[in-house]
Amino acid sequence: MHFQLTDEQKMIQELARTFADREIIPLAAKADRDEQFPIAVQAKALELGLLNLALPTEYGGGGLGAMEVALVTEQLCRGCLGIGAALSISALASEPILIAGTPAQQQAYFSRLAAGQFASFALTEPAAGSDVAALRTQAKRVDGGYKLTGSKIWISNASLASFMVVFAKTDMDAGHKGISAFVVEREAPGLSVGEPLGKLGQRAAPVCEVFFDEVHVPESSRLGQEGEGFSIAMRTFDRSRPMAAAFALGVMQRCLDEALAYAKERRSMGKAILEHQAVGHKLAEMSMKLEAARLLTYQAAWRADQGQPNTAECAMAKAFACDAAMWAATEAIQVYGGMGYSTEFPVEKLFRDAKVLQIYEGTSEIQRNIILRELTRA
Ligand SMILES: Cc1cc2nc3c(=O)[nH]c(=O)nc-3n(C[C@H](O)[C@H](O)[C@H](O)COP(=O)(O)OP(=O)(O)OC[C@H]3O[C@@H](n4cnc5c(N)ncnc54)[C@H](O)[C@@H]3O)c2cc1C
Repeated sequence: MHFQLTDEQKMIQELARTFADREIIPLAAKADRDEQFPIAVQAKALELGLLNLALPTEYGGGGLGAMEVALVTEQLCRGCLGIGAALSISALASEPILIAGTPAQQQAYFSRLAAGQFASFALTEPAAGSDVAALRTQAKRVDGGYKLTGSKIWISNASLASFMVVFAKTDMDAGHKGISAFVVEREAPGLSVGEPLGKLGQRAAPVCEVFFDEVHVPESSRLGQEGEGFSIAMRTFDRSRPMAAAFALGVMQRCLDEALAYAKERRSMGKAILEHQAVGHKLAEMSMKLEAARLLTYQAAWRADQGQPNTAECAMAKAFACDAAMWAATEAIQVYGGMGYSTEFPVEKLFRDAKVLQIYEGTSEIQRNIILRELTRA
C-alpha cells in the first residue's frame, strides 16, 4: 500500500488547481449573485483536458479513472461549488452510458460531449427522490420505441444539456424492476425544460424541472435491457459518489484556506485570533476532518478504478465528506465572526453552498441506510 499520487495525477491536479485559481475564483461571486453559469469557462476547461476525463480516448475522452476525476473535481469545486458542479454533471450523465451503452451509443454520445455539449442525469421526480422505486414517469412501448410521459425535478444543467439520461418505468407495477434507462434528445418534440429553480446555494449551476409529454424515444436510445434502469442508476452512484465526495473536499479545503488566512490576520485581545486556542483548534479540527474525508474519497475512487466492490466505501466517503463540509463551513463563519455573515467575504457563500452536499446524490440519511445495509448483508 502507498499513499502517493502518480506523477500524472499530480500534474492534472496542479493543472486543475491553477485553473480554479485563475479561471473560476475570479468569477465565482458574480456567478453566484447572478445565478448564471459563466459558460465560457467550460470551453476553457475542455481545451485544457479537465473534462470528460473518464471517457475512453477513442471517443475523445481522457481515458482516466474515478481517482483523476476526484482530484480534478476537488480543485474545480474549491474554486466554486456552483461552477465546479456545472462542469461535472456531464461526467455523472456519462456513467450510465459507460456502464450500459453499446459501442455505437458510446461513440454517438461521447463524441458530442468531447465536442463541448452538455448532458444531464434525470432521475428525481417530484414524488420520488430518495425513493427511486416510486418513479412515475412512464415509458410506454410503441412501434419502434417508446413514448415517455411524466416529469423530473432538480435536474442539474437541464437548461444547458443537449441530451439527458432519463429513468422511466417500462412496467408501472414492477417497482424498481420496472425502471429502464434512456438517452433522450433535448430537442425531442414533447420535451420541455422549466426555468432554472431559485435556490440557497450552488447558484451558478442551473437546476430545472423537465416535462415529458409523449416524447418519442427510439428503441436504439435505450441503455441496457428493459428493467435494468435501477441497477444502472445504482452502479452509476458507485462511480459518481467519489466525485460528489470530492465536491465536498473542495468546499472544505476552501473553508480551511479562508479561515486560516483570516485567523492569522484578525487580532483580538492583543494577538492574532489564531493564537486563541479555541480558534486554533477549529482549524486543526477542520484539517483533520478534511484529511479523513480525502482518504475515504480516494479509497472509494481507487476501488472503483480497480473494479472492486465499493458501495459501502462510496456511501461512507459521501456522507462523511459532505457532513464534514457543512460543519467546516459553519465553523469558518464562526472564525470570521460578524464578517463571516457578510456577503462581502467568501465564507457566507461556502456555507450556503455546502448544505446541498448533504442532499443530492443520495442524502446523508440514505448513505447511512446503505452503510447499514452493507454491514448487515448476509
Ligand atoms: C441542487 C440540486 C441538484 C440536484 N441535481 C439532480 C440531478 O442532476 N439529477 C437528479 O436526478 N436529481 C438531482 N437532485 C435531486 C436530489 O438527488 C434529491 O433531492 C435527493 O435525492 C433527495 O430526494 P428528495 O428531495 O425527494 O427528498 P426526500 O426523498 O423526500 O427526502 C426528504 C427527507 O427524508 C429523508 N428520507 C427519505 N427517505 C428516507 C429513508 N428511507 N430513510 C431515512 N431518511 C429518509 C431524506 O434523507 C431527507 O432528509 C438535485 C437536488 C438538488 C437540491
